[in-house]
Amino acid sequence: MSAPTEPVTTTRTLLAVEGLTIGYSGAPVIEDMDLTIPGGAVVALLGANGAGKTTLLRTVSGLVTPRAGRVVLDGVDLTALSVEDRVRRGLAQVPEGRSVVAELSVEENLHLGALWKIPGRKERRAAVAELYETFEPLARRRRSLGHQLSGGERQMLALARALVARPRVLLLDEPSLGLAPRVVAQLMEILRETAQRTGLTVLLAEQNVTSALSIADRGVVLGLGEIVADAPAADIAADPALRHAYLGF
Ligand code: ATP
Repeated sequence: MSAPTEPVTTTRTLLAVEGLTIGYSGAPVIEDMDLTIPGGAVVALLGANGAGKTTLLRTVSGLVTPRAGRVVLDGVDLTALSVEDRVRRGLAQVPEGRSVVAELSVEENLHLGALWKIPGRKERRAAVAELYETFEPLARRRRSLGHQLSGGERQMLALARALVARPRVLLLDEPSLGLAPRVVAQLMEILRETAQRTGLTVLLAEQNVTSALSIADRGVVLGLGEIVADAPAADIAADPALRHAYLGF
């Protein structure tokens, strides 16, 4: 008899922020925030320009130090850990701007992403080959250099490069920015499929509310330094007052 299949989305908290206060100078951007994300969930992080979405992602990944509070991954307090240690523990961030190494080929960029976590060359090659099955457009462009790619292909490469190291949690900042709707839909579909298949946990900051909610289990809306809504994605999408007040449509 085969072993029972684990459900991909669990109710166990994988990532949490507790009492998080973050600011640069002056008033805090985010104040005393609590947020828990179960393993395998896809959470859309929404809010107007300047609401603090990027700041929150950068704090989770360790690029910004909070004034107070902590970031916890699988029960381990990450607050004092470096960015590198957080990556080793399974966090990956794809920052806004889809940066890839312009002088390297698609394949070399992917190997670079794998270098961190997968020590053997053979294993790295296998991880990249596996990724091409999901990212078919990248497989076709594997010999192209970063600077030869379209905006959509670069975003796809930035996403694939983060995933090749098999993170547990992906922090994704505005992947849709500046891309055509068709390309955004393709990216979102890849993300949804990957999360479902692998149990990857995703925190997706997006201005493109409709696209983000179309693949998310849950939506978290930031406004005035705090969480103003945290609900199933369908409920957020169906709430005109919330959309109008905080999401601009
Ligand atoms: P957007 O969707 O426009 O990227 P956001 O929700 O991601 O917005 P943040 O980029 O986190 O918001 O910005 C939140 C606030 O913090 C804004 O008022 C912004 O001006 C400020 N801010 C962001 N980065 C810095 C920084 N490095 N130094 C000072 N202030 C900053």
